[in-house]
Amino acid sequence: DLIRKGLTRGSLVKIPLGHRSELGLVEAIDVPSEVPDARLRFIQSLEQPFPVVTNDLIQLADWIQKYYATELDAIFEIMIPGAVRKGMQIQQRKALQLKQSLSPDALAALAKRAPQQAKLYQFIAEQPPSEKRTRQDILNQLKISPSSAESLIQKGILEDCLLTVSRDAYMDGLAQGEQVEAQEISLTEEQAACVASIRTALAKQSFQRILLHGVTGSGKTEVYIEAMNTVLAAGGSVIYLVPEVALTPQTVSRLRARLENETNGPVVVWHSHLNDGERYDAWHAIATGKSRVVVGARSAVFAPLKNLRLIIVDEEHEPAYKQDETPRYHGRDVAVYRALINQAVCLLGSATPSLESLYNAQQGKYELLQLTKRIDHRQLPTIHLVDMKRENSKAKGSAIFSVYLAELMRQRFEKGEQTILFLNRRGYDASLHCPDCGHVAMCDHCDLSLTHHRRDKAIRCHLCGHEEPVPTTCPKCRSPKIIYRGSGTQKIEDLAAKIVPGARVVRIDADTMGKKNLFREVLGDFRRGRIDVLVGTQMIAKGLDFPNVTLVGLLDADISMHLPDFRAAERTFQLLVQVAGRAGRGDRAGEVVVQTSLPHAPPILYARQQDFHGFAEEELANRKEFNYPPFRHLIHHLFRGKNPEKVAFFAQQWTQHLEAEWLPLYPGIEIRGPAPCPIEKIKDHYRFQIWYFVPNVTPVIGKLQELRKAFKWDRDIIEVLDVDAVGLI
Ligand code: ADP
Ligand code: ZN
Ligand code: ZN
Repeated sequence: DLIRKGLTRGSLVKIPLGHRSELGLVEAIDVPSEVPDARLRFIQSLEQPFPVVTNDLIQLADWIQKYYATELDAIFEIMIPGAVRKGMQIQQRKALQLKQSLSPDALAALAKRAPQQAKLYQFIAEQPPSEKRTRQDILNQLKISPSSAESLIQKGILEDCLLTVSRDAYMDGLAQGEQVEAQEISLTEEQAACVASIRTALAKQSFQRILLHGVTGSGKTEVYIEAMNTVLAAGGSVIYLVPEVALTPQTVSRLRARLENETNGPVVVWHSHLNDGERYDAWHAIATGKSRVVVGARSAVFAPLKNLRLIIVDEEHEPAYKQDETPRYHGRDVAVYRALINQAVCLLGSATPSLESLYNAQQGKYELLQLTKRIDHRQLPTIHLVDMKRENSKAKGSAIFSVYLAELMRQRFEKGEQTILFLNRRGYDASLHCPDCGHVAMCDHCDLSLTHHRRDKAIRCHLCGHEEPVPTTCPKCRSPKIIYRGSGTQKIEDLAAKIVPGARVVRIDADTMGKKNLFREVLGDFRRGRIDVLVGTQMIAKGLDFPNVTLVGLLDADISMHLPDFRAAERTFQLLVQVAGRAGRGDRAGEVVVQTSLPHAPPILYARQQDFHGFAEEELANRKEFNYPPFRHLIHHLFRGKNPEKVAFFAQQWTQHLEAEWLPLYPGIEIRGPAPCPIEKIKDHYRFQIWYFVPNVTPVIGKLQELRKAFKWDRDIIEVLDVDAVGLI
């Protein structure tokens, strides 16, 4: 019976396990000829008949489990979305279809006797099959009573049917305003050369890795689109990964306009803000083969597509591809491995490739393709550096806007051109500070200062959410002079409005980003010119393409340089290039103002010259000297617990254990630590870390995991392993 319902390898079923029932995946099907063993139990129900994970995903899960030293069920929980596990189904509504056509005479007679019925009949008869609508929808529109429909059904003229109603996050009213026309584009010479190389790689039907390095605005997306069309036309399927924040309605609409047609089928969009219905429909379209192209954030790399020929990872350098909770996989690296399993092409693209990928290209592992010019010979924007140390002494205090930036903002406003201001988020958390005794309001539970939120008159911890009312006097010395130091995003917004009187200034921050529609509305207003100055964190720097933006200001370039992270210089360089890339995308040249107190720092100077290779060469030399990636892989081991002595003790014990048991087996390994983490306490937990520097993960991780599982840990100690860790605190 189950087989009749479609049970197959990979189906999701409910099975009894002791007294509970659990979800299970069908591994193999065997129909016994004899009475089965009495201990065998029956499958309770078939939750999803189609394979919820494809064969290649099972292999992929196995690799992730080993490489990232994690658990299989955590991986399947990501591969199989909650909506699918919950047994959700596609949404079907009642619709009407024609059962028997009426002759013109019969129709005329009907129109006389029952005009409503005739009207409904005509509507259904003329409805094109691709534009089917629900019964309710049609009755509402034509203002026809349900009884007319019933009569036609009784007469055998119409019949009931079911219509699948797809739930699509990008098909609502707001999306209409963002539609773009599919314009015919002829590729530039550079683009055409890249496309040709990618086609050659695709034709080999084997595992190929390509790194596309293209300056901002050089038309990388066009190259991706051509590559995707090639695959789709040949019947294959594609995954196109972008950082979540780059999935703007504009991007989605552009891709849909260029990719959706009769052969290619619909484009599925996949990100973390989908509700269960939307997610289920998206997944269903992929799992049933209705869709062969998925555009999405990190977890879209697990889309159960068949005949996967190409995986594109745009902005491959983005730290957001690393998941910061279990399983801590890197979306880009998983994409490469999935391409290997499928003997497919993996195309990584960026204006500022990660040094890991660049190094792989230099080693000949990746083919390197380049787009060196902007489309239409548009100039890369001019980058001005403003020394904020001087501005501060001029302003006799801490200046937020330099005189130069303020002047350019006013000029832009007068010319009717737009400005984007970027804040480096961490630096714009306003803390509470007492000028008399130096007291800074700190979180009681974390090693972090509290951030002032003016709107709700509270100070809040960004790590644990702890909240206090704003004190009127210093809690330590009772001074009433307690003030806010740093400048919150709200303050920047107010200041910008003062600098350019009359300008409409709007801010995008975490609160706006959380509300999907609000974010889209703001971007829509900006595009239509209803906003003059857009203020946001660098989070929004991805993928914004507004031709009327001719000025971009980066208020503080320094903060990313002070991060306790060996990638700080790389992040600073990437940030500057990315931010600068938002300017001058239309006909007019763009200008960028970078405010910094370190105008001579190498990443800033190289970014100013848009010299990626110069930067990479210098930075690779630094990395080599200290054995940092890409020359070694880093595995981070975090230990935390309420008792700092105990945490330190266990970290120490473990290190000694490793030095005795692990190191001698693999002489290439180096252990650094244990040491306190840069943020020593979060949520009342004290934190210690160890770094393992290893030449390659695969040969050494299995033994590490084995030792870890056998070690006698204490219940009070939580330890977390993070392979190829990115951006830690
Ligand atoms: P990137 O992804 O490298 O930043 P895009 O692919 O977004 O660049 O291209 C930048 C702009 O140039 C887009 O508006 C795009 O439509 C346009 N464009 C890209 N290629 C061409 C081309 N060959 N001819 C005309 N316009 C193009
Ligand atoms: Zn004080
Ligand atoms: Zn806290």
